[in-house]
Amino acid sequence: MDILVIGGGGREHAICCALAKSPKAGTIYCAPGNAGIGQVAEIVPIAVNEFDKLTAFAQEKQVGLVVVGPDDPLADGIVDAFEAKKIPVFGPRKNAAHIEGSKTFMKDLLKKYNIPTAAYEKFDNYDDAKAYLDLQKLPIVIKADGLAAGKGVTVAFTREEAEAALKDIMVSKVFGDAGSQVVIEEFLEGQEMSILAFVDGEVVRPMSAAQDHKQVYDHDKGPNTGGMGTYSPLPHIAESIIEEAVETIIKPTAKAMVAEGRPFRGVLFAGLMISPDGKPKTIEFNARFGDPETQVVLPRLKSDLLEIFLASVNGTLDQVEIEWSDEAAVCVVLASGGYPASYPKGLPISGLDEIEDAFVFHAGTAKNEAGEWITNGGRVLGVVGLGQDIAEARDKAYAAAERITFEGKHQRSDIAAKALV
Ligand code: ATP
Repeated sequence: MDILVIGGGGREHAICCALAKSPKAGTIYCAPGNAGIGQVAEIVPIAVNEFDKLTAFAQEKQVGLVVVGPDDPLADGIVDAFEAKKIPVFGPRKNAAHIEGSKTFMKDLLKKYNIPTAAYEKFDNYDDAKAYLDLQKLPIVIKADGLAAGKGVTVAFTREEAEAALKDIMVSKVFGDAGSQVVIEEFLEGQEMSILAFVDGEVVRPMSAAQDHKQVYDHDKGPNTGGMGTYSPLPHIAESIIEEAVETIIKPTAKAMVAEGRPFRGVLFAGLMISPDGKPKTIEFNARFGDPETQVVLPRLKSDLLEIFLASVNGTLDQVEIEWSDEAAVCVVLASGGYPASYPKGLPISGLDEIEDAFVFHAGTAKNEAGEWITNGGRVLGVVGLGQDIAEARDKAYAAAERITFEGKHQRSDIAAKALV
């Protein structure tokens, strides 16, 4: 069966590699893909928002399945566009992807169904929001309602920061329409963790838990990024807490979406805060695989990813085999100097062809005219080590990361360090 994967980052590279292992997989196409993905898939130069071109391509090639990676096209209804042409597609429809696309919708849903999350209020005008903010204790969290590429959230520790964030969203409108509403939310203390699950209606099949490192520098310093590294599983978080999160957050949310007439089909990704006394609360929902969480979760999947996607599309997700390896995985992201602010592109990358004991997922690479690897994005590569435990996986990831070089290369040195203490 031929497959079309939509997206062009490390997440899509990991998805393509997992799909390529399936005996059922024929040609894998990836649009727009990247040069590294070109090692496992045929690259198709169509952007993720060109729905007409993508559906026409899928029809022309008669692909048996479409898999959508990124959030923006999901929020804009790409799944509905494929379904309208009767092309099998894995991912949530627009009305279900709304759980990621609108934080006010997500918070109202959780409140209505009594699902644990931080206390909040929502506002659509600055004066009311400011008056409420002035009465709250610090720290406090200010969130633009819509998608803002991970930049729409401010955890404010001072009144000035809080007010500036609110003004940016509601007065300067730096996020455009995504900031026409704002959520002001209680600050939750604790450890963050993510749980990804395959979901089809009320059927929930959890994947392994993972932890991300969002800030650019060690010890969680500096501005937020798309993610500088991840690891899975989480040996320092009790299995009972993960089970509680699935039972009290993910399953009730899937049920609530069905009750609201928005059944969710795809990967539901819960960003959670575990309080110091071990209680999980929801921070956010994403309607797709995380990036770079996927890079540590899928290499641990022993079952056939294509069968899981097909079961989901065919309504048999409850029956399909989903087995995980006991191995641990650690992903270290190699970023361009300057990221997440401006950074150069086109710098030669060396050492890539010498890596044997790790997976290298390409997020932002290209090839120059001479066929050599060059940088082509903020996050350039995700280097993933697998091992019997986090320590071994981490050693392998860092050993491989050291062998890959490009001018200005930046990586965090403390990925998964929390899991070792
Ligand atoms: P992304 O898409 O990058 O995952 P987002 O823009 O959807 O992020 P959130 O996940 O809601 O935003 O928040 C980003 C980060 O801000 C969280 O990972 C967490 O570190 C912090 N954060 C959000 N809400 C809270 C909260 N209520 N208490 C403490 N920290 C929070």
